[in-house]
Amino acid sequence: MITRLECARCARAHPTDRLQNLCACGGPLLARYDLAALAEQWRPEDLVVRRRNLWRYREVLPVARDEEPLTLGEGGTPLLPSRRVGPSLGLDQLLLKDETLNPTGSFKARGLAVAIHRAGALGAERIVLPSAGNAGSAAAAYAAAAGLPCSVVVPSGTPAPIVAETRAYGATVEFVDGSIADAGRRVRDLCAEGGGFDVSTLREPYRVEGKKTMGYELAEDLGWTLPDAIVYPTGGGTGLIGVWKAFEELEALGWIGTERPKMIAVQAVGCAPIVHAFDAGLEKAEPIADPRTVASGLRVPSAIGDFLILDILRGSGGTAIAVTDEELLDGARRLAREEGILAGPEAGAVVAALPDLLERGIVARDDRVVLFVTGHGLKYPAIMEPG
Ligand SMILES: *Cc1c(COP(=O)(O)O)cnc(C)c1O
Repeated sequence: MITRLECARCARAHPTDRLQNLCACGGPLLARYDLAALAEQWRPEDLVVRRRNLWRYREVLPVARDEEPLTLGEGGTPLLPSRRVGPSLGLDQLLLKDETLNPTGSFKARGLAVAIHRAGALGAERIVLPSAGNAGSAAAAYAAAAGLPCSVVVPSGTPAPIVAETRAYGATVEFVDGSIADAGRRVRDLCAEGGGFDVSTLREPYRVEGKKTMGYELAEDLGWTLPDAIVYPTGGGTGLIGVWKAFEELEALGWIGTERPKMIAVQAVGCAPIVHAFDAGLEKAEPIADPRTVASGLRVPSAIGDFLILDILRGSGGTAIAVTDEELLDGARRLAREEGILAGPEAGAVVAALPDLLERGIVARDDRVVLFVTGHGLKYPAIMEPG
């Protein structure tokens, strides 16, 4: 029931029946659905008999009624009560959304399942993208499943296990000096030469649709209520934007009310453009010249959706906070030792942010708080070395 694509900046409408990147104004395109009509026909009870993957919310995804979605079983991840990390801080309702269980070991699978499903349906012949790591391997896996060739451009510091994983799915991997921003420029050159369809996050409309399903799952798992706070390791911010979009859609469907959690973005000290912009009261973020962090998913020096992220953080009463690499590695080791979840350094960052969030009163001890555990630790040998 997708009706149009709408520019997040100038609100211009675009058709959904062709491959699309940005609006002519440079803004990202967001999918819009006929939610008023859906509210009349779709009920939470309809979900009960459906499989636990993200396509259970297919009414609000870009898939036709008679179309078979491209799936490797993404989504439907558990929301686990924290056993020790929360209680040790006096937080007795800390919940962990364990995204490590997705195909390819990260929540990037959600966005790329939907984007590559849609790109294939609209006739893309090759998938091309820049990646700091996990997006590339997820794209490679879904391209393999769809029978499409895939090219990934990564910064030279990308973790070796992720590069090997991406190649194992049959994708070609090209290295560039610099950051994911430089990789993005290389991808745009390749695509301009006719090299394929660019699925860079938010330069393509449907990765955010895949990631928004985390918001639907949260609400469903909490009995169509929302937590008090969501703590999210933020790179390009696609998940944050997606989850917020899910809440707006759920309200329009009448499945939740007007309440919203505080949305909290966590970044690494060596690459914290959103934190700087938040603190300075800016509407857009200044790019970071020399981004440095071991958390490759957070090594994003400038995000095309920065204005959306900042709006959401402020509108929700949330904040943005940075932690050091030492702290985020320690956070990931705690998730392994104290919760039994081997996660990457990005998830370690949200654990590391908790004491500060409590001290600053952004999060209260009796709040229901959700941490996004976004990617698997097996991809980062540093997590498995004693800290
Ligand atoms: C990409 C990535 C992030 C950042 O996600 P965004 O939605 O782009 O902000 C966080 N953690 C991991 C493991 C990632 O791969």
